[in-house]
Amino acid sequence: MRQNLHTHTTFCDGKNTPLEMVQAALAQGLDSLGFSGHSPLPGTDWCMNQSTVPEYRREILELREQYKGELEIFLGLEQDILSPLPDQPYDYLIGSVHSVLRGEEMVYVDESRESFLQGIQSWFGGDPLAFAEEYYRQVGTVAQKTGCQIVGHLDLICKFNQGDQILDTSHPRYQKAVLGALEELSSRNVILEINTGAMSRGYRTQPYPAPWILKAAREMKFPICITSDAHSTEHLTFAFDQAAQMAGSCGYQETMYLTKQGFIPERLQTF
Ligand SMILES: [Zn+2]
Ligand SMILES: [Zn+2]
Repeated sequence: MRQNLHTHTTFCDGKNTPLEMVQAALAQGLDSLGFSGHSPLPGTDWCMNQSTVPEYRREILELREQYKGELEIFLGLEQDILSPLPDQPYDYLIGSVHSVLRGEEMVYVDESRESFLQGIQSWFGGDPLAFAEEYYRQVGTVAQKTGCQIVGHLDLICKFNQGDQILDTSHPRYQKAVLGALEELSSRNVILEINTGAMSRGYRTQPYPAPWILKAAREMKFPICITSDAHSTEHLTFAFDQAAQMAGSCGYQETMYLTKQGFIPERLQTF
């Protein structure tokens, strides 16, 4: 079965409406679609506002009724680690770290290359590994803090790091930070996503997370799912094939598939 649980719409920073995403999902042969709008986070322009959340929920639930029998639709949220917890139930949550707090300031890992470099200079004494260590400390706590079922884009800090231009991901300090986060998460019964979002936007040539991380996750028995973090209709199934191949080459034979009864394992398939 073909499913994408990580999608954004005009309710947050996506380009298309939920209806357009549903129509594209059908056109691209998905069996199931999950909406994961960015949870409200005061002071940001890429998240939903608290006041629009009821409308988001209503619209997705209406589409779910309208498309019953054609497309299975799920109401989710990409729950930022710094957002207040949702006060309504969701079918699933993706727990994500996009920034780390330095005092009151949110220092982003994924906003732009420039702001990432600026963050390293201003807050981590010019040491990219120190930024990475703080980022993975937060990632390690994301399931506990958000109650998510899926951990989003584990190594998002590498969004602007194609070819290790900024951060040396072979450095023992980096690897220790990543493995420490996985260790923390391993008792939480969470799914890791293979996320092609940065590929679709031209920042990376491979999905999150890096293959060595996925291999370590496999050894630690983390289940996975494949998502595209789509912010538009054309990226709804972007590079799913490559993601599935990477999962296979890292030892995975199954992905997790959300049903009305919860997540079930399914045989890994190519698209
Ligand atoms: Zn995200
Ligand atoms: Zn996202």
